[in-house]
Amino acid sequence: MELHNTNEDVVIAQVNDIFDTFERNGNPENICTCEQCRIDTACYVLNRIDPRYIVSNRGIVRIEQPSIENQQRKADIVVMIHEGIIKINHNKRSSSTHGIKKEERSIHPSPAFNLPAIVGRVFDGTNFAPMEDIDIHLLRDDKLVAMADSNWQNPYHLVTYNEGTFSFWPAPIVTGEVNMHKMFEFSIKINAQGFDTLSYFFKIPVKSEQRSVATFVRSRTFKLPDMYLFPPERENINS
Ligand SMILES: [Zn+2]
Repeated sequence: MELHNTNEDVVIAQVNDIFDTFERNGNPENICTCEQCRIDTACYVLNRIDPRYIVSNRGIVRIEQPSIENQQRKADIVVMIHEGIIKINHNKRSSSTHGIKKEERSIHPSPAFNLPAIVGRVFDGTNFAPMEDIDIHLLRDDKLVAMADSNWQNPYHLVTYNEGTFSFWPAPIVTGEVNMHKMFEFSIKINAQGFDTLSYFFKIPVKSEQRSVATFVRSRTFKLPDMYLFPPERENINS
């Protein structure tokens, strides 16, 4: 049994629809339509609306009936997406090149482990405010993990509009064979001034595929639990 947030599907589909329309129409406003800006925009909206959970059994998701309420919800989401696009385009990360064409990515014709995008959120544990202006590191074997392309950063620098949400897309790992199962061990390390260092360890099982994927596969998102930073415990100076 799995919980599934149907608003994620709605928001991600709408975001892609809107960005694809920009591209089709020659993008007169010169909006960056790269994958990183798409996921930033989706996160912007998802952090501002309530999740709508359903139970999905073995991947079968009940399709919601169209209703006036759903129509209104969709309209509200579209408004927020446009709001997010403006915010995100004004806050483009300077370290990111943006706009890399999918075809420009190096694609290995050999079998590869295609890792999912890794998404998480980090809060100040003392007041539950989303953290900002800190760096999040994704490590494997104590080394920074290489990203799929230069639109993605590692370390990830959290800015205000991220609302504490960070994301990584690790580069595919080339291997010899198809259908090999491997467990990849990662850790998230957050070293923020005034807080204890947080290290979170996790594993992602991946099956190798015919080739490395050049496009971001949205269904493959690995969500981390929310993380909380706490200030170091004070020594008892009275004793
Ligand atoms: Zn971009």
